[in-house]
Amino acid sequence: MNIKWKYLWILPALMGTAAAQNSVPKVSVTRWPQDRTAAISLSFDDGINTHLDVVRPILRKHHLNGTFFVATGMGPWQKRKPEWKQLAQEGDELANHTVHHPCLLPEIAPHSQDYTPDMMEREIASANQEIMQLLEHPRGLTFAYPCGNVSFGKPQDEVKNAALYLRYVSEHAFGARGIGAGPENPDELNVLDISDLGPTAGKGFLNLLQLAEPALQEHNWGVYCFHGVGGDWLSITPEALDELAGYFERHSEIWTTTFGDVLRYIQERKAASIDIKQNENSSLALTLHWPMDKRIYDIPLTLKVEIPAIWEQVRIEGDGKPLSSKVSVQTGMTILLADVPSQTMLVTITKTEREHGQIQ
Ligand SMILES: [Zn+2]
Repeated sequence: MNIKWKYLWILPALMGTAAAQNSVPKVSVTRWPQDRTAAISLSFDDGINTHLDVVRPILRKHHLNGTFFVATGMGPWQKRKPEWKQLAQEGDELANHTVHHPCLLPEIAPHSQDYTPDMMEREIASANQEIMQLLEHPRGLTFAYPCGNVSFGKPQDEVKNAALYLRYVSEHAFGARGIGAGPENPDELNVLDISDLGPTAGKGFLNLLQLAEPALQEHNWGVYCFHGVGGDWLSITPEALDELAGYFERHSEIWTTTFGDVLRYIQERKAASIDIKQNENSSLALTLHWPMDKRIYDIPLTLKVEIPAIWEQVRIEGDGKPLSSKVSVQTGMTILLADVPSQTMLVTITKTEREHGQIQ
């Protein structure tokens, strides 16, 4: 995020009081929405029956949304399209895991050792097309590498094909999950190779929760990768998922949402820039720039504004419409958190009189 302080020099003159001169407004975009402590995504690979039969009711019970990386050439996608569509309508993310799931593991067919660049590109493009056709409101797709492999073809072509693979993914997805070890720092991640939290097969609730601990402690992003639940392969039990989902539902200070939405927030926050103008001693105007593609990046950003405590009551508007905000007063500062819808151009914060004022 890029904040320009070009109007800062006029602040002391305008703000008047000595107390105000000691504290100039500070504006930032919180690391996670509503200043939550960390982000968690539950992702489910391969597009298999237990996702529809077991995972879906568990997520609905706990009011959570997950990400389903589907391989569109595997039976359950083709046979149960209306149910996948319904998942998307309920807020879950459908995402690309190729058509046939080619990978380098000898025991999994088709073997991506036998793939040419054209074949691999078709895998990604065709799956994208299949999924997009099912979505009523497409907002871009994310991708997960089958078996976490980031290349294909013969060993002598590994380097060249790794570069091609990244290019194909970048042309069809706005981010991709690989396999890895551990949480991601939003300021440092590689959007085309985002790590998951490591293997989950066979783990119970406590061991699964343990995988997320470093993310929760360091305020980072933890991406779970699951396969079957109560069946299929590499599975965990429905009870384990139910307990884990229940935990994240109760802990609303953790942002648990789809892989795509976390990535949208991270990328928008990184790209957004804010110009601060102090108009007079009772209002603040912020001009926002959202350079990312608005068809994909549509998540509100949470602005955190620290203003002198003499501004006890404020009204905040985005392009003339009231914004919902949370105000707290801490050690001489009024801290304001407000969700600003994507593409909002102008945010104004106005000091209101106590007797007439209303915190929105
Ligand atoms: Zn897979």
